[in-house]
Amino acid sequence: MSRTIIISNRLPIKIESEEGGFVYKKSAGGLATGLGSVYKEGDNLWIGWPGISSGSKEDYQKITADLSKENLVPVFLTEEEIQDFYEGFSNATLWPIFHYFARYAVFEETFWESYKGVNQKFCDVIIQHLRPDDTVWVHDYQLLLLPGMLRAHFKDISIGFFQHIPFPSYEIFRSIPWRRELLMGMLGSDLIGFHTYDDMRHFLSSVNRLAGIGYEHGQISIENRRVTVDAFPMGIDYEKYATTATLADTLAREVRYRKSMGEEKIILSIDRLDYSKGIPQRLRALELFFEENPEYLRKVSLFMIVVPSRDNVERYRLLKVEIDELVGRINGKFGRVNWSPIHYFYRSFPLEALSAFYRMADVALVTPLRDGMNLVCKEYIASKIDQQGVLILSEMAGSAKELSDAILINPFDIKQIVDALKQALEMPKEEQKKHMAIMQSSLKRYNIHHWVSLFLDRLAESKAQQRHSITQKLNQKAHQEVIKSYQDAQKRLIFLDYDGTLAPFTKDPDQAKPTPELISLLTQLSNDPKNQVVVISGRGRDSLGLWLKDLPLDLICEHGIWRKEKNEDWHKAENISDEWKQTIKPVLELYVSRTPGSFVEEKNYSLVWHYRKVETGLGELRTRELSSHLKYLTNNMQLQVLEGNMVVEIKPAIVNKGVAAKMWLEKYPADFVIALGDDRTDEDTFKALPEDAFTIKVGFEATEARFFVPSTVEVHALLADFTEVS
Ligand code: UDP
Repeated sequence: MSRTIIISNRLPIKIESEEGGFVYKKSAGGLATGLGSVYKEGDNLWIGWPGISSGSKEDYQKITADLSKENLVPVFLTEEEIQDFYEGFSNATLWPIFHYFARYAVFEETFWESYKGVNQKFCDVIIQHLRPDDTVWVHDYQLLLLPGMLRAHFKDISIGFFQHIPFPSYEIFRSIPWRRELLMGMLGSDLIGFHTYDDMRHFLSSVNRLAGIGYEHGQISIENRRVTVDAFPMGIDYEKYATTATLADTLAREVRYRKSMGEEKIILSIDRLDYSKGIPQRLRALELFFEENPEYLRKVSLFMIVVPSRDNVERYRLLKVEIDELVGRINGKFGRVNWSPIHYFYRSFPLEALSAFYRMADVALVTPLRDGMNLVCKEYIASKIDQQGVLILSEMAGSAKELSDAILINPFDIKQIVDALKQALEMPKEEQKKHMAIMQSSLKRYNIHHWVSLFLDRLAESKAQQRHSITQKLNQKAHQEVIKSYQDAQKRLIFLDYDGTLAPFTKDPDQAKPTPELISLLTQLSNDPKNQVVVISGRGRDSLGLWLKDLPLDLICEHGIWRKEKNEDWHKAENISDEWKQTIKPVLELYVSRTPGSFVEEKNYSLVWHYRKVETGLGELRTRELSSHLKYLTNNMQLQVLEGNMVVEIKPAIVNKGVAAKMWLEKYPADFVIALGDDRTDEDTFKALPEDAFTIKVGFEATEARFFVPSTVEVHALLADFTEVS
């Protein structure tokens, strides 16, 4: 039976040693709750680090045995791995880069080596437990290489990956020395999820620009496999927060806290100690707020919880010092004997206490400089049973995309935060209720359980789609099937692409002239009276037309702009203009001047920018730039920008190989139809043909074709076999 295996850096437990054994404390975090319903079921598993890095062999055996009863599998990490993989590469390289704090990022070869090593260690443990029909769901930035490593062992397994932190813009991501390896690791997945559309967009653009792999509708084609990329904003366990807020214990706590605070209004902020949370900026905004609005002194105070985190790391220690000093300064400046502007707690609280804080807060001030999602703001809303309260939320938090009824602010704009505080404190109750109700109904619906099933359903769907569309290799059996159909047919229509299909792809397009063997093969094939052979190419008629003009076959050049049936003259497609070339050609020339080795080919009605001779990588990079540049320019020009094999081609949108192929299908009805092609433009031919046609892709990229063959050698072999049959 198919199982679901969850993989994350940490297992959802905390292990504490006690005399004579261990105690296992379950994590109450949102993710653990959401995935709890998954990993506890049947034979499903959760694999991850159990949180300890020292112990005897016997301890590890005991822990492994204990955890297996809970469907948990530990991956033990050493102290050194924790330092280099976790504190190092994950938290000192990826975390700052992914949160747009590039200046804090450390690029250390030893950290990278450890990161690779630990991802491999996870892979090795997983392999021991994995069955080919399992579904694997990998979580977060500590394990970016893992999907690729798993894919190398299990070609067809279903792998989902979700990143819980932001994915930065290409401009930031590109600074990581190991950026390509990281992307390729992620691309081992079948489905890649992010919290927001922006993260997804940034990821696609990085893949496109750094790995030279294109995408369409959020799908990336890689090695004959389609990877789906989408946004899945994570929800909270809404019921848990809504219910806890009504418990007698929570109410008692609220009454107690309230009593000590008097009548003042409460602004609440809760974060882990991290530079991405914007805590100093928030404090400066509060200071300015009191300076500009002294009437609020004694009437409102900030209840600020900072949860300790990594304060043994210098950067975090300095942040803590900065916060301590700011709190001291503001309290010193505005405080009175019986009133403090800030109640500051550097500690964590249990859910019941948090729930009481959420309930009693008039305003929640959530101002991260960057946050993948931010759950605190969602928990605040879920806890507001009376629908009274206002959320001020940073537009840099993933949650801002869903919570547009909050007061959204730019966390770097202190003046705006001050205005937002005033607006929040003065907001009429009815208005508070209106916004709160809208946000509650959305969070209730898109809760953590919804998120889990949405992701897993989508993964299953993507995999099913992928399997359905998986093109089969034209193996011996399929080859025989094609030959048999060919033999049985009375009329045959044979579409053959030229470069990369009939002739091997060469660095110099002029070197692709047909060999005498190819001429002979095509002649024999065309001479069979049952055959209608059509060479269908993007090439101009001045090369292909000249090379093949004496053969008894049909020619379609420039994707269908020029057409010639055997023994007849050339015909041009109707309503085709070339005036647009004046606008587009200078742009292509600009890219030629910027890209050594590239050149422009001018056909009668299309222009092609070739980069087959350009340094590997640079050509792909320029293609990305040129394509987006052209797509923008050609808007409303009825032109199509095609990315082909080492070319970017611009041509009138109304012609393509599919349109041309359809004309031949109509004119020459056949009981055997076959098309062979290697390029993206051949996909139009494949799509235009009837379902029972034999469509064969040359190469390994994702395709609509039913079959694929590795190279032109197999194409020639198939055509040669045709000529053996009458
Ligand atoms: N939290 C907690 N105890 C505390 C303060 C916070 O359990 O004293 C929880 C809070 O309820 C929330 C999580 O910590 O679920 C913080 O998640 P968020 O996404 O806001 O920030 P992160 O720390 O993951 O960046």
